[in-house]
Amino acid sequence: MLQDQQILRIPGPSPIPPSVQRAMSQPMIGHRGQETSQMIKSIGPRLKKVFGTSQEVAMITGSGTAGLETAVVNIVQPGDEVLVIVTGAFGERFTKICEAYNIKTHQLDVEWGQALNPANVKQFVQNHPEIKAVFSTYCETSTGILNPIKELAEAVREVSDALIVIDGVSCVGGVETKMDEWGIDLMVTGSQKAFMLPAGLTFVAASERAWNVIETNEQPRFYLDLKKYRDNLLKDTTPFTPALSLLFGLEQVLQLIEDEGLEQVYARHQLMMNMTRAAFKALDIPLLTSDAFASPTVTAVQPDDFDAEAFRKVIKQQFGLTIAGGQQHLSGKIFRIGHMGYCSPADILQTLGAMEIGLKMIGKEIELGKGVAAAQQIYLKEGAIV
Ligand SMILES: *Cc1c(COP(=O)(O)O)cnc(C)c1O
Repeated sequence: MLQDQQILRIPGPSPIPPSVQRAMSQPMIGHRGQETSQMIKSIGPRLKKVFGTSQEVAMITGSGTAGLETAVVNIVQPGDEVLVIVTGAFGERFTKICEAYNIKTHQLDVEWGQALNPANVKQFVQNHPEIKAVFSTYCETSTGILNPIKELAEAVREVSDALIVIDGVSCVGGVETKMDEWGIDLMVTGSQKAFMLPAGLTFVAASERAWNVIETNEQPRFYLDLKKYRDNLLKDTTPFTPALSLLFGLEQVLQLIEDEGLEQVYARHQLMMNMTRAAFKALDIPLLTSDAFASPTVTAVQPDDFDAEAFRKVIKQQFGLTIAGGQQHLSGKIFRIGHMGYCSPADILQTLGAMEIGLKMIGKEIELGKGVAAAQQIYLKEGAIV
């Protein structure tokens, strides 16, 4: 039995709800038939709500990085100048993609664990008036911070027409996203994080300002050409064979989100973050990030007196509980708990309870139950269903 029980608490891929799993096992259908058109038609407006946009949301078969590359190839061309704000490993991915396309790329580095500062970005853009686009992550998965993208867009807009491009892969669907209202020009997300699906779909939406650029951008592109996706969506179809099983699942994901209510989904993520953070504070184990910039989808913990890797190993061995380690220079120094998508306050209590045992087993002196109790208190205060 236990071999079959995997507790997956990494920041993506995330667990799949049973009803979504069932939806994905439906028999295959023709991708140019009526049923597929109906499905795409039904998905469209519901997906827009999650993005907070009235624009079409392209559904492209590929992992999140395909979505990031889509953003790049559709709005800039070789010789263009861009700014990439790097708050962690995923921010750097935009730099790598831009450089692969010979885009003149400036990088604004922020200390890992901190969020970007809109005033600094504004200053940078002011000093480099040729910058055509500013790239940033929303949730920086490698450190568990949530960048203030609304404030970022506001600040940049005051001094520049640069497009604001956001990698929301590890949080859209779990945290508030108001693309139109906030003035975000391109928003990208993926299926395997807060969207509760397997990897394989990436979603990309563009603002009207961005469309003006996309339509005249001469960068060669074919599979990732956003115009193809938009033109086909307007006819309730896709330019290439869609990942139909994932779309079956997506329909059910949207149903689950609507049944719970988008605001409630956001509140649940906030609650899970608060419970997790309260537990580590009670156990006196340092968090990597401050409360102000903590992401509701992933929490990074930075132990100062025990080995993060030994800890991860023991909880995997004892409970089949998988959490993530650190990336690059934080490798071995932090561990990260994913709490996004199909994850509940009850799951958090389970995770924390198992982790306390793991801590004891590697010799960390803690009082058993102290972290769980702090999380329970948060639940009673903020989460109880009335
Ligand atoms: C997971 C993730 C990605 C996408 O990675 P893929 O492996 O290509 O799906 C991109 N950005 C962020 C912030 C992520 O967390």
